[in-house]
Amino acid sequence: MQVKTAKSAGFCFGVQRAVDTVYEQADAGYKPIYTYGPIIHNEVVVRDLEEKGVHVLNSREELEQLAEGTVIIRSHGVGKEIYDLIQDKGLICVDATCPFVKKIHRIVEKESAAGRHIIIIGNDRHPEVEGIKGWCHSPATVIENAQQAETIGISEGTPVCIVSQTTFNYKKFQDLVEILDKKRYDRLVVNTICNATEERQTEARQIAGEADAMIVIGGSHSSNTQKLFEICKKECADTFYIQTVHDLNLEVLRSTGLVGITAGASTPKKIIEEVQKHVADLSFEQMLEDSLKTIRTGEIVEGTVIDVKEDEIILNIGYKSDGIVSRSEYTNVPNADLTAMVHVGDTMEVKVLKVNDGEGQVQLSYRRVAAERGSKRLEEAFENKEVLKAKVSQVLDGGLSVVVDETRIFIPASLVSDTYEKNLGKYADQEIEFVITEFNPKRRRIIGDRRQLLVAKKAEMQKELFARIHEGDVVEGTVKNVTDFGAFIDLGGADGLLHISEMSWGRVEHPKKLFKVGDKVKVLIKEIKDSKIALSMKFEDSNPWLTADEKYAVGNVVEGIVARMTDFGAFVELEPGVDALLHVSQISKEHVDKPSDVLKIGQVITAKVVDFNGEDRKISLSMKALENNEAESDQEEETEE
Ligand code: SF4
Repeated sequence: MQVKTAKSAGFCFGVQRAVDTVYEQADAGYKPIYTYGPIIHNEVVVRDLEEKGVHVLNSREELEQLAEGTVIIRSHGVGKEIYDLIQDKGLICVDATCPFVKKIHRIVEKESAAGRHIIIIGNDRHPEVEGIKGWCHSPATVIENAQQAETIGISEGTPVCIVSQTTFNYKKFQDLVEILDKKRYDRLVVNTICNATEERQTEARQIAGEADAMIVIGGSHSSNTQKLFEICKKECADTFYIQTVHDLNLEVLRSTGLVGITAGASTPKKIIEEVQKHVADLSFEQMLEDSLKTIRTGEIVEGTVIDVKEDEIILNIGYKSDGIVSRSEYTNVPNADLTAMVHVGDTMEVKVLKVNDGEGQVQLSYRRVAAERGSKRLEEAFENKEVLKAKVSQVLDGGLSVVVDETRIFIPASLVSDTYEKNLGKYADQEIEFVITEFNPKRRRIIGDRRQLLVAKKAEMQKELFARIHEGDVVEGTVKNVTDFGAFIDLGGADGLLHISEMSWGRVEHPKKLFKVGDKVKVLIKEIKDSKIALSMKFEDSNPWLTADEKYAVGNVVEGIVARMTDFGAFVELEPGVDALLHVSQISKEHVDKPSDVLKIGQVITAKVVDFNGEDRKISLSMKALENNEAESDQEEETEE
């Protein structure tokens, strides 16, 4: 327990001065001594002074009865006629009026003598206000609230002097002056509020705001103590109003964190110190009790790490023996190295498993506390469909296991991904996101689902992709799968099919010869139909038919490779994407039954272009047409010889 006492608690300057004056007089021995009214609102002090021969005069009549003695005027002050009476009776007057109050007396005396009507803002029945009135040359008007200010009954233009009771609230004073301003008086306003009260209240409010319990000390009739109590009570529900230490119920303060103390203006220092001492003693007692703490099995205690080994943690739990958390009682992660997870000085809440494990140590569990807390957290996550993130701690035959707050969650293989996962091993130690779709801690069944997040994410991406792409666009993608008939390209949200026939202008033997999974490719969106996207890599600027009419004009002699054969002819690839037909009748002047009788697939041949149809992309070749030429040139060579 901590104790905080307000610096401004107790006597203000004016009250301290008055009390000191009375004690000085009592000690000096000029008896009898009287105070005009109780010196302060505190019965203990008044009783103490009574024992020292200082009596209280409760009225003017009692003063009139006196034949001798000393009369002390308290800090509130009195009207001029009381001074006159004391003098007339030949009594000794000791004036302990607070200098701040005395200043008001001088102001109202002077201003009322100058013809100003005195308006006092304060409580008409308060002794200080009564005293101030007693210094005015003509009757003063006292107002305390807005209604009284509105209906004040002093005619417009009257010269007035406005002063305040020293303990009046400044904000209220301003409000009332504002109302009076509307009356168009020839007014003089003197702010005579003393800030001792304001300071005490501000400090009390601030301490009560921090404290777990607040003690307000003061006489039961002290209005400023009551006000302090109200302020503190608003900030701290456990605020106690006491007159002396005997009213204090220490039991209610036991186990309290911070106890605040303040006191009203009439509370002697001695009383405050007594209360402080009792609370401090209780605090010490509590610390002693705490140091002899007992623990029981099942209890949750807080401990500080004093040593960490690979497989156990030693904790100081404030008990006579240290506590031990074994690896399996710290975490569910198999073979975890505790030195990498926990450090000396860390604090943690642990559950007592066994008070004495036979070696004088206490067996503790961190995991169980965390699991209980985690279970609650996971239940909330389940109800709120919250997306959780955790590292895969184990890859099992049927799925993945993750641990959140020391609680295991199983993600079945079918809920790991939106596609069939042959190899779950790749998820080991990976951080994954998932939602809990089944929560049954009693049956130890907490099921996670990653697939639905992927499906939802993909749907979102697909929507975004279809809004973005158009036929004719060139986009980037990643080869996701390669089959005999083509490759599926992941475009980020949906897959497109790149058919084997669209992979190149030329002939492709097998898609796998061109692509492998993971390759990045640039593809042309050829067609979008519903959710199907057809792709192509036959980009128009590399179309070989753009220049074919020049290269393969009729009469040109060209080379090509026999690509395939039918009974009626052979198809010859002149370049990738440009095939020509060599009809069986055009192979030779000799009769050829079928092309395969004289040609082989892959054979390079030379032929003459005999027909070119760019529109239908058809070219006809003839080898026969070259035979004449060859024969002729052979003949020419022989003749020359
Ligand atoms: S509250 Fe201010 S004016 Fe009143 S007695 Fe104390 S110091 Fe003087």
